[in-house]
Amino acid sequence: MPTAKRDSVASGGRLDAVVVGAGFAGMYLLHRLRRAGLSARVLEQGSGVGGTWFWNRYPGARCDVESMEYSFKFDEALQQEWVWSERYSEQPEILRYLNHVADRFDLRRDISFETRVAKAHFDDAKSRWTVTTERGDAYSAQYVVMATGCLSSTNTPKFPGLDSFAGRVFHTGKWPHEPVDFTGRRVGIIGTGSSAIQTIPIVAEQARHLTVFQRTPNFSVPAQNGPLDPKVQARIKARYGELRRLGSQMPFGFDVQFNEKSALDATPAERRAEFEQRWAHGGLPFLGCYSDLLYDKAANELAADFIREKIREIVKDPKVAALLTPDSVVGCKRLCSDTGYFETFNRSNVTLVDVRSAPIAEILPRGLRTERQSYEFDDLILATGFDAMTGTLLRIDIRGVGGATLGERWAEGPKTYLGLTTAGFPNLFMMTGPGSPSVLSNMVVSIEQHVEWIAECVANLRARGLERIEATPEAQAAWVEHVNEVADSTLYPRCNSWYLGSNVPGKPRVFMPYLGFPAYVEKCKQVVADGYQGFRLA
Ligand SMILES: Cc1cc2nc3c(=O)[nH]c(=O)nc-3n(C[C@H](O)[C@H](O)[C@H](O)COP(=O)(O)OP(=O)(O)OC[C@H]3O[C@@H](n4cnc5c(N)ncnc54)[C@H](O)[C@@H]3O)c2cc1C
Repeated sequence: MPTAKRDSVASGGRLDAVVVGAGFAGMYLLHRLRRAGLSARVLEQGSGVGGTWFWNRYPGARCDVESMEYSFKFDEALQQEWVWSERYSEQPEILRYLNHVADRFDLRRDISFETRVAKAHFDDAKSRWTVTTERGDAYSAQYVVMATGCLSSTNTPKFPGLDSFAGRVFHTGKWPHEPVDFTGRRVGIIGTGSSAIQTIPIVAEQARHLTVFQRTPNFSVPAQNGPLDPKVQARIKARYGELRRLGSQMPFGFDVQFNEKSALDATPAERRAEFEQRWAHGGLPFLGCYSDLLYDKAANELAADFIREKIREIVKDPKVAALLTPDSVVGCKRLCSDTGYFETFNRSNVTLVDVRSAPIAEILPRGLRTERQSYEFDDLILATGFDAMTGTLLRIDIRGVGGATLGERWAEGPKTYLGLTTAGFPNLFMMTGPGSPSVLSNMVVSIEQHVEWIAECVANLRARGLERIEATPEAQAAWVEHVNEVADSTLYPRCNSWYLGSNVPGKPRVFMPYLGFPAYVEKCKQVVADGYQGFRLA
């Protein structure tokens, strides 16, 4: 990491709030906290704003919620002036947008870049946090907000021999800033999740040969991406407020057009028409095809069969098609959205290797060896995902009342009240934490809701001369139980997904996000209306 100048605010500087992370969440937090009259500083390990969109620069990286919805709504002028070029924008465009937001609201003057937070310790007597960076700078703040991201700590399985690989190694979640050229190269990619599904078609076009190592096949629906018609964009902008409001009333916080019917009540012809129409529309709204898709295994199986049939239609080699066909539940792992993913396996320069039946044994200097055979390549791409939702928080030494660490408190899995706070850690807030809709929602909508809730909470405490807010263990236990109850009523816990932490060895198996954005928002409002019910205020 480059050495940066010691921060003038640090070393004893007292602040009202420290925000860790400068992605969508940290940026809007800074704006709102400043507007509420608080002195706030954002500490960001990267050298620029953007978070996810700063780090994930792999070819093909783009959003899977439409850009007109995957963007801030808090400022009318901002949402009117920004012009998106595609239905689902690519990473460079989203990063440009976030830089524009930083300029527009003059955010950078209160952000310290290249500043990684190592510790956050609470002083019970003073009711203040000391936040210490890896460089040793210390900030004293009344409030700390962890806007550290749910998908910001990459996960790299411990493949024996990885260090011996002689070629270039990339992780999709930490892609270099300079362009990477695969022309004439033999490339190996490990993983077939969302990031891999986006990058494989692009790398395949460039590389001499691409070998895809797949452990688990995934369901994917074509994004049907394309340029965003200026007339469509103008129509949306003419009633943007209303459309945003409608989107936030949907279970995932964006416009999925949920069909109220059960798949089991429809005739085969009706079902075919519905599935075909959803396939043609593209992307995540496929999940809205029937109300019981995520609740009833038989209903889900009908949708799963439809996608399986599509895979068999697209992929010419029946053996390859069979390997690419998932046998699991649609949507219980994040549904992927692609552009030409399955088609890529018809290319003569692409090979699919099943590492479920013959796992990767070791990485070699010039390739890798599975338990069946060896493969050679020049470059290795790890599309192995993230230590999601808790990984980044637990990499920081966070200590609350009595010096208890977050790691100890969460040893059996994360416990939060509303996904925003955790008992024993007063005045510490989390953005899109476990127990909030988070990754099961349009995250920008969730982020705006959290920021506004936190800013209002802090303003409320100040207006009443209060200094401290802390979730009670009872309210937290009840919330955790409710989150689990909701999850258990669905098919989500039925497969091994990163929602459950299954991709990281040793991680407690707990379903982390809360399903149902509108119900969540209501609960948060109710808590406030009841005088911050479930919190101890002092
Ligand atoms: C490829 C990809 C595509 C996605 N597409 C969508 C989508 O279409 N729709 C959707 O809703 N969501 C999507 N997501 C989820 C995405 O993460 C969120 O939408 C959103 O960008 C999260 O913003 P954030 O500010 O909460 O976190 P992040 O953007 O992850 O930002 C967190 C920041 O905190 C910093 N940080 C972490 N730890 C420290 C530390 N110790 N010290 C200092 N800084 C630290 C990180 O460097 C990072 O910059 C996608 C994620 C990925 C990876």
